[in-house]
Amino acid sequence: MKKITRVLGSLALACSLVTGSALAEEVASETKKPPLESTTGIKSSGFENNNVNALLWLQKSAEARALFYQAFNLGDMILDKALADKSYKKKPAVVVDIDETILENGPYLALLALEGTDDYPFWDEWTDVADAAATPGSVEFLNGVAKKGVDIFYVSNRYLENVPGTLKNLKKLGFPQVEESHLLFMDRNGSSTKEPRRQKVSQTHDIVLLMGDNLIDLSQAFEMPTSEERNKKVDELKDQFGKRLVILPNPTYGFWLDHLQEGYGKMNAEQKRKARLHALEYWKTDLLKVSR
Ligand SMILES: [Mg+2]
Repeated sequence: MKKITRVLGSLALACSLVTGSALAEEVASETKKPPLESTTGIKSSGFENNNVNALLWLQKSAEARALFYQAFNLGDMILDKALADKSYKKKPAVVVDIDETILENGPYLALLALEGTDDYPFWDEWTDVADAAATPGSVEFLNGVAKKGVDIFYVSNRYLENVPGTLKNLKKLGFPQVEESHLLFMDRNGSSTKEPRRQKVSQTHDIVLLMGDNLIDLSQAFEMPTSEERNKKVDELKDQFGKRLVILPNPTYGFWLDHLQEGYGKMNAEQKRKARLHALEYWKTDLLKVSR
């Protein structure tokens, strides 16, 4: 960080002192360049500015990779303890979400970011291609679960129409128990809550572990309308994390963003920008004048 600050500081100093220099001209010409042109004609919402850092972190940072391994190692420990304790009466089951939990859609999300949209078009086409990669450690973890005789249910808000493409994708990557009866997907015209699908699993199984990148993957208790309420609920249920519930990192999309402000999902780019700035908690000091 110090190095970056120094470089930026030097650049600013050079530009301010040597007006008209080659460096200043280069900087000026860079800023005049038009933005990347859309090839699909999708209207830009400025999404690229919001999501590129988050996507890069998820795709490139070793820390993100380590967090996935950490989550699946923890899942292993939780499962082993549950099996040793026999803390179940029916057959034990593990419930996992799919997107950004065991499959990563980085290339699809990056394309949207470059196109400047967050409207999520071409989702069905992306799932049909069946080319999403596995998240680090997910294939090994779930094969270990299967070897222990535990049933796995893939409870996802992918649409029912996405089942064939997803089966193909999961099989190609070597995930276990990839059968239609183990995939509980969302009706396109139905509710996003996963609770009825978890209850369906609970009719025949005891769910000893739930894993997902969105709190709604874990429990209906987290289906709250605001960030404040969701955070409060997490505090209330803090003892459950790492014991039966495991959350994975996803800074690129999710309810955490939709719940920054009421109606966020339906806002235009400028409204979203203002909502994000409004949500930021920052140091209120006389040293800098900040407007948002
Ligand atoms: Mg997900």
